[in-house]
Amino acid sequence: MRIITSITQLRKVLNQVRRKGKTIGFVPTMGYFHEGHLSLMRQAKRDTDLCVVSIYVNPAQFGPQEDFKKYPRDLKRDSSMARKENVDILFVPSDNVIYSEGYLTYIDVEKISQWLCGRFRPGHFKGVATIVAKLLNIVWPDVLYLGQKDAQQVAVLKAMVRDLNFPLKVKVVATKREADGLAMSSRNKYLLSDHRRQAPVLYRALQQARRMVKSGEHSSAKIKAMIQSMIKHQSSGKIQYVACVHTDTLQELKTLEGKILIALAVFFGKTRLIDNVVIRLHARKQHKS
Ligand code: AMP
Repeated sequence: MRIITSITQLRKVLNQVRRKGKTIGFVPTMGYFHEGHLSLMRQAKRDTDLCVVSIYVNPAQFGPQEDFKKYPRDLKRDSSMARKENVDILFVPSDNVIYSEGYLTYIDVEKISQWLCGRFRPGHFKGVATIVAKLLNIVWPDVLYLGQKDAQQVAVLKAMVRDLNFPLKVKVVATKREADGLAMSSRNKYLLSDHRRQAPVLYRALQQARRMVKSGEHSSAKIKAMIQSMIKHQSSGKIQYVACVHTDTLQELKTLEGKILIALAVFFGKTRLIDNVVIRLHARKQHKS
C-alpha cells in the first residue's frame, strides 16, 4: 500500500493505472476506521482493480460548534488497518493541499441538503458535496463507494453525480453494526458507558418500525410516534428528529409507500448519533368494488 499526500503524485500514479485499462474504486473517509469503513474497502477490492481510500477530516463540513478539533484521528492505526485490507493507495492530503489560499468554489445541492440533518447542520452538505467533488476530480474513479449509514449523504452525492455528469457509478454498502445493533461510527467512542448501553434502542425502534410497515401500518405519524415513544421510554437520548421520507428525493411521506427511508438523529449527552432503515413497499393495488 502506498501512502500519498500530494495531488500531483496521486494523479501521476492513477494515470498509469488507467492507461493499463484498470478500473479504480474510491472510498472517501474521515478516518478512524471501523468495520463500516472496512466493508466499503472490501467491496471496492472485490469490484475494481485498484482501491483508493482517502482520509481527510474536512473542516468545511463541520459547524462552528461541532467536533472538528476533537474528531478522532490516528493515521498509524488507520494505515495498518487499510494495509490489512490490501488497499492499494491511501490518499492523505493536508488542509493546504485541499483548500489553497483564496479558495472560493463550493457546491450546493439544493433542497435535499436542507432537510433532515441539514436543518440542524447548516452548510454541512455543502461541505460534503464540495470535498467529494474535489476528490472525484482528483481520483477519477470508476466506482464511488458510500455507506448507507449516512443516507442523506448518499442522496445528496447521488444527485450531485447525476447533475454534474460525473462519469462513474455510485455503489451503496449496507450499514455495519455492533453485535447489539448500534450502527458503527467513529463518534461512538465519545459515548459514556451508560449511553453506550442505551444507544442500541435506536436500531430496535427502527426494526420495530420496519416490522410495523411490513405488516400493513402505512401511517407515517403512527410510525414516528412509536419510534419516539420507544426512545423516550428506553433511554435518556434526546431526539433531534425522526423522519419518514422518500429514499432518493427525501420528500416527506405522510403515507408510507414506495422507497421509504426512516431516519433519525438522537443525542446521547453531547454525542449525536444517526441511523436509518430503508424499506421498499410495492404500491398498493386499488381494489375495484
Ligand atoms: P466517515 O469516515 O464517517 O466520513 O465515513 C466514510 C464512509 O464510510 C461514508 O461513506 C460512510 O457512510 C461510511 N460508513 C460510516 N459508518 C458506516 C457503517 N457503520 N457501515 C457502513 N458504512 C459506514
